Amino acid sequence: MRGEMKRRLHAAHLGYDSMLRRARELLYWPAMAKDIKDVADHCEPCQQMKPENQKETLTQHSDGNAPWMKIGIDLFDLDGRQYLVTVDYFTSFIEVDQLKGTTASDVIVKLRVLFARYGIPAELISDGGPQFTAAEFQSFASRWGITHTMSSPLYPKANGKAEAAVKTIKHMMMKCLQDNTNVYDALLELRNTPQQDTELSPTQLMFGRLTRSRLPAATNKPVSKTQTRKARQKRQRRRRSVKQSYDRAAKDLTPLSNGQPVYYKHREGQRWQKGTVQREHSNRSYIVEGRNGAIYRRNRAHIRPTKIKPEPITEMQQNDEGHQVVAVPDNTETALQPTQDLRPVDVPTEVSTIPVRPQRARKKPSWMIDYDTT
Ligand SMILES: [Zn+2]
Repeated sequence: MRGEMKRRLHAAHLGYDSMLRRARELLYWPAMAKDIKDVADHCEPCQQMKPENQKETLTQHSDGNAPWMKIGIDLFDLDGRQYLVTVDYFTSFIEVDQLKGTTASDVIVKLRVLFARYGIPAELISDGGPQFTAAEFQSFASRWGITHTMSSPLYPKANGKAEAAVKTIKHMMMKCLQDNTNVYDALLELRNTPQQDTELSPTQLMFGRLTRSRLPAATNKPVSKTQTRKARQKRQRRRRSVKQSYDRAAKDLTPLSNGQPVYYKHREGQRWQKGTVQREHSNRSYIVEGRNGAIYRRNRAHIRPTKIKPEPITEMQQNDEGHQVVAVPDNTETALQPTQDLRPVDVPTEVSTIPVRPQRARKKPSWMIDYDTT
């Protein structure tokens, strides 16, 4: 009767703890708790609708150790115009350029101008936008000897410096438009304003002095090495305290191994989808194969290990569902993003229906279908 009892216990799709509390009042058989855990672990609807992963501890970018060694870039649009925001990790110096278009070459044109002015950075951080995954951009970065790091799709936090810079610039531009003042006057003041972490301005860290603006200031007073050192110590202290308070409510998720059956988030806010880990891409980022054979890159935050082995969709099912499965070659990171939208989004899964009323005729509990790998 265990199978039947387990099915009845899970009628309300309650979690392991609730089921066990209920069971302990009424039932007993050896290893009952483990069996009940299996029911929860193998229920497809429950697995799909699990809440988001818990918060992981904070990983902080280094500041690049010198001006313009590490930059973050991001695009935004305002009033129908496209802009590129470039921010330096060490100085927080922000550059904003209007783009002709949003292709890789449009971005490269602007970056070349910036590199002529400040030098070539050693590291460049961007999100996984199509202009950055493009082969043209990848080869540009490698030809100039730049390590290009892209944040995982759905996980823009990894490009947080550029995201914050976009917010600052966009809001500043909107306010300037509204009160009809010049954006460049505003940018001049912004760059001369001491930053919260170092208490020095971007210009002081970049050029070693304040630039002359319409506020009275000693622009020829150079920033001493001691001042810079103290500023960096302040930054380190601040970063440590930010991490400390963030990590209080966070715990690192376990690393995943190749071939591990998992659930992953296809889109933010959607249900978890079945897949298999192919390999680790970079720290906390993995390449996951979906059930339809498509390849995705996901941050660990959007992957959850499971005991349910994913079974590939058979050809017949594909035809039935009318989906076109786009084959994506592995190890071509550049192909991941642009083709992603072509893939089936809502692949219906064979949801095992757990009847409220038990059916005597049934031989095998339906929740077992999911891990029956024959
Ligand atoms: Zn369930």
